Amino acid sequence: MKILLTNDDGIHSGALWYAAEQLRDLGQVVICAPDREQSGVGCSVTLQLPVRVVDFPSLVEGVRAYAVEGTPADAVIVATEVLFDGPPDLLISGINHGSNLGEDVLLSGTVGAALQGYFRGIPSLAVSITSLNDLVLEPAGLLVRALARQVAEGALPRPLLLNVNLPNLPLEKLEGVEVARLGRRSYADVVKVGDDGRRKWYWISRSKPIWEVVEGTDIWAVRHNRVAITPLSTDLTASPQLAPLKDLSHELSEALRKG
Ligand code: MN
Repeated sequence: MKILLTNDDGIHSGALWYAAEQLRDLGQVVICAPDREQSGVGCSVTLQLPVRVVDFPSLVEGVRAYAVEGTPADAVIVATEVLFDGPPDLLISGINHGSNLGEDVLLSGTVGAALQGYFRGIPSLAVSITSLNDLVLEPAGLLVRALARQVAEGALPRPLLLNVNLPNLPLEKLEGVEVARLGRRSYADVVKVGDDGRRKWYWISRSKPIWEVVEGTDIWAVRHNRVAITPLSTDLTASPQLAPLKDLSHELSEALRKG
């Protein structure tokens, strides 16, 4: 089994190498990850500049590694199109520092990388732990191993894109795994304004999220000490609004016809 491992925290992230260590006996593991932190870049792809890639000295025996001067999505594109000998059988993005719950999936570089695998028909997992520091990695390691085995056995549906979030808890405190839908979690972005003497600058930062803790969601699951697994698809169509908007389309067509 060929496993491509990437992340958005950068190739120096210990959690990325921990995942490599946990997976290496399951197949051929290759790391291709951004050379620096790229959290929050979502699906962003570099189109205006060349993407440079260098061999990275591996920290895990038997695992090849490449550092990419680009986004997580760039890393997956380059790895799958050029570096790998044929497409990988599995893409894992993570283990990420910090949760990717609810609408976060639209901004997350971790999920953005996994999407690139999904677009190419590769079973893809985005794996996050809901803490920015002092990560408890063991449960995430066991889970990616178990999921990788299930992918290898063909036990999971295809196409596959799973968003996995683990509470930052040791095994004995975890209360199981919940298959959950995406919850709602909104942020009020805060903009700090400063002046460097020549120009103003603006620093966008995320304030505390406003949670909607509803049973059945990923947010609810991690709040209740459970691992949340959410299958994702890329259909963002607001289906319930198709019918009511059809009336509007007649009016718009009419407006165009009249000029
Ligand atoms: Mn990150």
